[in-house]
Amino acid sequence: MDLCIIGSGYVGLVSGACFAEVGHHVVCVDNDQRKVDMLQAGKIPIYEPGLEDLVHRNVAAKRLRFTNSIEDGVDHSQVIFIAVPTPPQVDGSVDLTYIERVAREIAGVLKEGQYRVVVDKSTVPVKTGEKVEATIKRYNKSAEFDVVSNPEFLREGCAVPDLMNPDRIVIGSANDRATDLMKRVYEPFHAPILVTDVNSAELIKHAANSFLSLKISYINAVAAICEASGADVEMVADGIGMDKRIGRNFLNAGIGYGGSCFPKDVKAFIAIARQLGTPFTLLEEVERINSDQLHRYIAKVREALWVLKDKKIAVWGMTFKPDTDDVRNSVAIDLINRLVAEGAQVTAYDPKGAEKAVDWKLVDPAKVKLAATPAEAADGAEALLIATEWKEFANQDFADVKKRMHTPLVFDGRNLFNPETMRELGFTYHAMGRPSRNA
Ligand code: NAD
Repeated sequence: MDLCIIGSGYVGLVSGACFAEVGHHVVCVDNDQRKVDMLQAGKIPIYEPGLEDLVHRNVAAKRLRFTNSIEDGVDHSQVIFIAVPTPPQVDGSVDLTYIERVAREIAGVLKEGQYRVVVDKSTVPVKTGEKVEATIKRYNKSAEFDVVSNPEFLREGCAVPDLMNPDRIVIGSANDRATDLMKRVYEPFHAPILVTDVNSAELIKHAANSFLSLKISYINAVAAICEASGADVEMVADGIGMDKRIGRNFLNAGIGYGGSCFPKDVKAFIAIARQLGTPFTLLEEVERINSDQLHRYIAKVREALWVLKDKKIAVWGMTFKPDTDDVRNSVAIDLINRLVAEGAQVTAYDPKGAEKAVDWKLVDPAKVKLAATPAEAADGAEALLIATEWKEFANQDFADVKKRMHTPLVFDGRNLFNPETMRELGFTYHAMGRPSRNA
């Protein structure tokens, strides 16, 4: 089939490449000319494992191309996916200006007699589909189209396998013709397809992300009780997670969830519920527990180092999770900036995210030293803070790391290491919700 994706970011580019991989012909549109130039030159603007090969292979096979022209994309495609940002506004509700603009732009180029399915893949509040439909109709009286909701559930860091092998495909549609076309788009993926009405599909995405955030806050609240009682949250999570009704995923205690999705989607769901007159106060508590995590963590560091001003602190990890270069709304970045605000001398290391953190002005390179390796970051440090659970951090030569540090003090914000091993190596090791053991 001929498909168009408007917005070639983490969702749009990876979706486009995966659709091409299964045999569709895909045009990815973006209005960021720099991004389009890079993609046309064979450069990939984001890091996502497996993406570069996928893009190169499908461009070479002439199944994938890039343009800045919505008209080009819409003209050549039966199905048009919208994958533009839906950032939060100050009050937590979703800024829908990107979606509204794309709806108008699509209306401006839809030609009479060309039936199109317009698919919302961006995460949007319930009832957005109705608004998109009304907007296109307002700006193009003769357009023949249907609007479908098809929320995306990929996880950054494993977006390619997630898209190639999804748990489920949700298609929110009010019309058989559009549903049939959507089923043909997804047929090659051999995944379970759930067809719903448009409103339900939109709600599924916010409800799913909020539930995952709730699981994280739940285990973080349990971790606080573990710390107060001497229990070990890892064991508790294993014991809870072995119950098939609960599952072990998303029961990892740490310094809290971040990234471009969970914080904004929880906020959005709270705002949506409030606007509909059905307040969802449980989610407000999820947010409160989440933001408390970082306070509790920094308090532990302060407890050990007393005053943070002038202390040399190494931070491993800047991205919001491993295997991505995405530093948007990363708790690790928040941590670094709070340490800097207290006058600490921070040296940070991240395998993929450091450049973007500086480019996007999330950290000030005049105030945060960036190291080329984890070991280099540890040089002279009075404490080592683990902020992202990159696998490579677990495979360091810890004898060397210890030698380089001024004081062998580790605060593992992601419970990445084994406390026994760290103790045997001679570190004073603090984890989240696990008994502290001193060397
Ligand atoms: P992104 O910022 O990485 O990409 C969005 C792209 O859209 C950018 O390249 C931008 O230049 C482009 N764009 C903006 N306006 C445009 C326009 N008028 N015409 C053409 N291109 C335009 O964002 P993302 O992370 O891919 O997220 C997109 C949507 O998908 C959001 O609603 C997000 O909540 C949702 N989502 C994200 C993820 C994730 O893990 N990143 C997962 C599931 C859902």
